[in-house]
Parts: sequence; structure tokens; C-alpha cells
Amino acid sequence: MTIIASNLGFPRMGENRELKKLVEAYWAGKVTDTELAEGIKVIRADHWNLQKNQGISHIPSNDFSLYDHVLDHIHLFGAIPARYQAVVESEVTENTAFRGWKTYFAMGRGYQTSKAASEASSATADTAFGLAASVSQKIDVGSMEMKKWFDTNYHYIVPEFTATQTFSLTNSGYSQPKPVQEFLEAKANGIETRPVILGPISFLLLGKSADSAHPYTSRFDALVHLEALLPVYTSLLTQLAQAGAQWIQIDEPILCLDLEYQGSLDTIKAAYTKAFTTIRAAIPSVNILLATYFGEIRSNIQAIINLPINAIHIDAVRTSETELSNIVNQISTTTLSLSIGVIDGRNIWKSNLKNKLAIIKNVVEKLGSSRVLVAPSCSLLHSPHSLNKEVAKVRPEVLDWLAFSVEKLQEVSFLTKAANSNTLVEPITFADAELQVYYAQNQESQAKRAVSPLIHNPAVKSRIESVTPDMFKRINPFPARRVAQRTRLTTLPALFPTTTIGSFPQTREVRLARSNFNAGKLSAADYDKFIREQIVNCVKIQEECGLDVLVHGEFERNDMVEYFGENLEGYVFTANGWVQSYGSRCVKPPIIFGDVSRPKPMTLEYTTYAQSLTTKPMKGMLTGPVTILQWSFVRDDIPRSTTCNQIALAIRDEVVDLEKAGIACIQIDEPAIREGLPMRASDWDAYLKWSVDSFLLSSTGVRDDTQIHSHMCYSDFNDIFTAIQRMDTDVLTIENSKSDLKLLKAFEKYGYTNEIGPGLYDIHSPRIPTIEDMKYRVEQMLKDLAKELIWVNPDCGLKTRGWSETIAALKNMVQVSVQLRSTF
Ligand code: GLN
Ligand code: ZN
Repeated sequence: MTIIASNLGFPRMGENRELKKLVEAYWAGKVTDTELAEGIKVIRADHWNLQKNQGISHIPSNDFSLYDHVLDHIHLFGAIPARYQAVVESEVTENTAFRGWKTYFAMGRGYQTSKAASEASSATADTAFGLAASVSQKIDVGSMEMKKWFDTNYHYIVPEFTATQTFSLTNSGYSQPKPVQEFLEAKANGIETRPVILGPISFLLLGKSADSAHPYTSRFDALVHLEALLPVYTSLLTQLAQAGAQWIQIDEPILCLDLEYQGSLDTIKAAYTKAFTTIRAAIPSVNILLATYFGEIRSNIQAIINLPINAIHIDAVRTSETELSNIVNQISTTTLSLSIGVIDGRNIWKSNLKNKLAIIKNVVEKLGSSRVLVAPSCSLLHSPHSLNKEVAKVRPEVLDWLAFSVEKLQEVSFLTKAANSNTLVEPITFADAELQVYYAQNQESQAKRAVSPLIHNPAVKSRIESVTPDMFKRINPFPARRVAQRTRLTTLPALFPTTTIGSFPQTREVRLARSNFNAGKLSAADYDKFIREQIVNCVKIQEECGLDVLVHGEFERNDMVEYFGENLEGYVFTANGWVQSYGSRCVKPPIIFGDVSRPKPMTLEYTTYAQSLTTKPMKGMLTGPVTILQWSFVRDDIPRSTTCNQIALAIRDEVVDLEKAGIACIQIDEPAIREGLPMRASDWDAYLKWSVDSFLLSSTGVRDDTQIHSHMCYSDFNDIFTAIQRMDTDVLTIENSKSDLKLLKAFEKYGYTNEIGPGLYDIHSPRIPTIEDMKYRVEQMLKDLAKELIWVNPDCGLKTRGWSETIAALKNMVQVSVQLRSTF
């Protein structure tokens, strides 16, 4: 046997985001069930063929998903929360061939029968839920909670379990269970695939208790459901084996978390042993690859090393050399194979193949080539599709340094061929001329990148060196600032001031104007005029809704990071470098390739224009340095913290410019601070130190009476509370509507002193929140927070919503504030 070129997962969207377009058209009622089913078959077949053509032998299936792979498993395992029962029942009357999809999307996006499908035309297709609602019964149900997938920018749907949770294998909208259907579909196309299943332990530990009477007190509590869950795995895996699967990939990414710190390595080990002995008994002759990724396994290796499985995948990019050799040593005493994830699935840089060959060489020497697989570090879900469309957009010097998913698979395939021809040591020469050229080009582009003058800016370097400690703090503490701010902001009500998070509907019209402008079909002057009209309209609507602190609406921004990247030096933009964020939503992270600086003000004009239209305070709207860093592809030749401070200085200059122009409230969004947390607790302090410092560097250059807002898209603060307090924002708006209200307890428990706006409604869903719902939430908050500190606002920006639902929601929201004020 030889070394196997393998892949763990491929991006789902398609080269031109075909999946996004298809699914959104389906939601808008423009594509039928059958058309959607046919459409995704084409996408899947394309991707399988593409991987095969790159020379990959272990090609994944069931890595595809219509919305999210964790949601796929929730649905597949029949773990549908009771509140979706009405949707489940309403499906009975509809197209039976695809029964299940409506419930599936309802869990992902929420569902409201009274929702008018006609609103689809007013904004993105997201606004409508275009499935035929032929039921007379009114259904109104929100979406399930969404969380960041480990430390990526991908979001998964959080499984919910009740104390008496049962599971059953379902077809979930397919003719047979989805993994089986996909396997057979590939097989019919002549491609043997390796089905990917989220492992039982990760599936459970990623979930939460939906039972307030039985909350989880430890992260391991969900393991009580293992007994009930395993039969579902065994019947699924048995079906896959019967369908002819030779290898099955079972993903257990939680093995890269700090399981041992909870003192529970034995618990986890027992759970893995139970799960995999049961699985093995069901499929005695299928090869099982247990995949871990996103970090080091460290001592968790003990929980899996003796399992009855055939191979373990490790993320060799994020595993240190010593750790790697530890693992290899331990594996060498077993019969396991090792899948080495040497190609970074999380970035866009071409690998240095020489270094990768050296890693492979060490492993092969120890294990022998029959026990080695070569792979990307993790699923390529987190990397864009291919460089095909980039020639026209990315400058050639930089393009030469890049590799997206398809190119990464080429690297995997090259490394495998090299290893199989035993060409692992210098001088590296290949009999195959094509391989020789490929390798020589790779080495040449590494060398060029290392010394490129495009990357180094002496002015930026010296500014970083001249930063002083007082640049990390405000002049006075919050209580003094609050007095100064309330004196300046005379139009603010004393209690429950209302605001929004920044963006307003990015309608088709807005997106069309931007794309016409980018394509040169609309002049800069006309585009500018158009944006100003949008701002006028947005300000007028906010005044009509009765909001207190207004925003300009972010119509000029495609994306909160891309916009800043476009205005900063040191960035490049791709034409097509899309990565899935959640559901059909994709982001196109800019690439930081060199030192970052701000050539000129970035937001001043539209903010001051918006302010000129109203006597209410206009909030300046910026993205914070950590978020810009976190949502960009970052260079790998200097520490992340250095790049972050470079960005912070650019934002600081913008903040000061806004203040000089008379702007009294400035919001610096940092939705990504939490997601940047390292996966291991032992690495947290160092990260929180530099990241919060960077935020402070960006935000503290102002006077006391300038109110600094920040926004974060999560509400889980318990473990990072000190860091949040240290950010010392005057007003912090947070996501809260989808989370358990008790999460705010952290603010009470630790005595949070500054103002705070916990989001009152979920902007990811098209449903319109009622006054009662939102008022109830504020009343609950009042149990934990002083009324003087509370702001009234939505969960996040409104860009994905339509206008009519936005106006209706905001009017209700302002009413909440008005009604509450009258009671105090
Ligand atoms: N200001 C941004 C907006 O409103 C914030 C988005 C975010 O936090 N993700 O869209
Ligand atoms: Zn947000």
C-alpha cells in the first residue's frame, strides 16, 4: 500500500456560489423542491469530479450541506425541538418527496406563516420564506441558536437536548438518510467517496440543554444521551457499509479542546470507548478514520489511541513539531494509520512544499508508507474555492503567493506523489518533469515573498515602535465620562435610549448600484449621489421610528471588514474568494499581505453628511482592529498581534477625525474578539491581553464627552468578563435575543459598570418581534442590570432584512422603550 492523497471536506457553495443562489431562490419561491434537488446534485458531482481530477483518492461525501452540517445531523438524528412540531405537521400536506426540508430550514432560519412572500423583492432573498404555506394554522417560530464553529468564522446550529431526548434515524427530506444518498449518488457518478459524519461525542458536546429544569452544569452533561444516540449511528453506519463505503470519516474536533482541564479525561475516554466499540461492532470491516482538527490533541490522545479504529487525522499545521513527534511515537506502537493534515485549510497562502516534505518524511520513516495519508489540516470549508477567477483582480506578485481549495488539493496531491516516489530529501529531483517544474515554481514564489518590498512599510514599523502606554486608556474613568456624555447628548432620554447596530437593508437596488459602480457602469459622482439619497431616506425613517441615536446605514459598505480593507494599504481583494459564514451567507475576507496603514479618512464624509440631516446624534460606525484582523486572511510572516496594532492605529486616526468633525457617538464593532479566543484555555490570557490592548489603542484617543460604543455578536461573557470590562466602552451592544437570558447574569455577577444594550430581537430571522416579546426581555434584564445602564436595540445590523419588516420591528422596539419609560 502507498500513501493516500485525501481530503476532509470541500467548500459547498460552488465556484460561483451556485448553492447560495439556488437556496435563496428556493426560499423566495422561485425554485421548486425538485429544481433544488437537481441543482445540488450538479454541484456535488462537479466537486467530486474536481477533487478526483486533482488526484485525490479519499474524496469526502456528506460534507455538502444545504445550510449547515450540524443542522443536517440534528435533522438526520430526529433531534427536532418540540417547538417545530407545527412545521413538521404542516409538511404532511405538502410535497411528500421532500418532506423535511421545510422543517430543516425553519430550524435554521425561523418560520412565520403570515410572512408575506412578496417582500422578497424588497431586499435580499433572505427576507422571504418562500415555501408554500398551505396550512391554515398560524406558525411563528424562531430559528435555533447559532454558534461559531470552534475558532472559525463559520457558524453552526446548536443541537438542543431535553432530559428525555430520543433520537431516530430519519431521511430528513431525502429518499434515504442524507449520507447514504450522497454516497450512492457519487458512486453512480463513478466516484468512491469517504462519507463524513460528525462524531457522536462532538455532536453531543456541541449541543445544549433545552430543558430549563435540567440545565447542564458541566460540558460533559450531554454525554448522558450517548446511550440513546448510538443506535442511530450504528444504523446509519450499517447502511453506509451496505452501500459499499470502504472508509468512513468520523469527525471529532472537540478532541482539540481542553477536555482534560475539566479533570474528566476518564469520562471522555469512557465515552469514546463506548461509542467506538459499539460502532466497530456494527461495521466490522469498514475502515474508520477519526478526524481531529483546528489544534493539538495533546493528552486527549489517550482517549482515542486504543480505539478499534483504523486511522487518526491530526491538524499538522497547528500541531507543534514536538507534539507531532509525540503523536507519531504513540501511534507507532499501534496499528493505526495517521492522516497528516499538512496543508493549511484555514488560510490562503501557498505552502512551502519543502517544509511539508520534511514533515511527511519524518512520519513515513516512523510509520511506513502504508500507514500514512496526506491531507489538508481540516475541511476546506474555510478556504475559498479556487484561484481561477483571480487573474484579473489580484496583482500578479501577490497572486503567486496564494492557494485556495483546489490549489491546496494540488499541493496534497503533489506531496503524496513525491512521498510515494520517495523524493523527500534534498536534492529534491523528480523523474516526472511536471512535478519538477511545479516544485521549482513553488520554491521560487516562497523566496520572492520573503523579500518583497510590497510587504514592508518603514513608516508603519516606526509608528508601532513609538506607541506609548497612555495610548491605551481614556482620560477619565467611566462615571466621569458618563456625566460629560449625558450633558453633551441633550436629546437622549434618561432611560432606555434606543439605537440600532449600524447597517440598514442592503436592498437589491443598493447592491445593484454598487456592482454597477464597480463595473464602471455608474460614475463615482452618480454612485455618491445614490448613497446620499439612501442616507437621507434612512435618517428620515429612523426619525419616523423615533430612534434616539441614529446611524447612516452603511449603504456604501459591502461588508464591515471588506470596506475598511479597501480603504487601507497592505490589503488585496479577491474577485471570488468567498467563504461560507452561515446558511447561504458567504463572506469574502480580504487578504492582509503587508504592513497596514490608512492613506486618508475612510468614513468621515458620509458620517458628517448624515449628521447634517438631523439634530439627533449620528453614530460614527467603524470596525474594530481585532475584527478586521479576525475576518481577514492574515499574513503568516509576522505575529497576528503586530498586524492588529497596525490596524488599531489606522482606526484610532479615524476615530479622532470623526470626533474633530463633531461626531459625539462612535461605535467600534468588535464582534470577533470572542471568536478569536484560542481553543485551549492556557492560551487565552496572552490573546486577551493583546487583543483588548489593540481595541483600546483604537478607541481611546477621544475626549470624555465622546461616547464610544462597541458591538459584539454574542452574549456569552462569563469567561471573558474581565476582558470585556477592560475594553471600557461607554456603551456595549450585544447579541442576546437568541440566548438564554441568564447569560446576562455575568454582568450582574461581576458588577459591570458601563452602559449596555442587550439585543432585543433576532435580526437573522424575517419574523417581526412583538412589543410584548421585547418588553418581557427588558423586564428580565432589569433583574440583573441597573435601569440607567440599559439601551434598547436589535441584536445586530439590519442589512440582511427588508425595509418593511425593519420599520415594523423598529417601531415596535421604540414602543418598548416608550412604554417602559412611562412606568419608571
Ligand atoms: N455595524 C455592523 C452592522 O450593523 C455590525 C455587524 C456585526 O456586528 N456583525 O452591520
Ligand atoms: Zn452583530
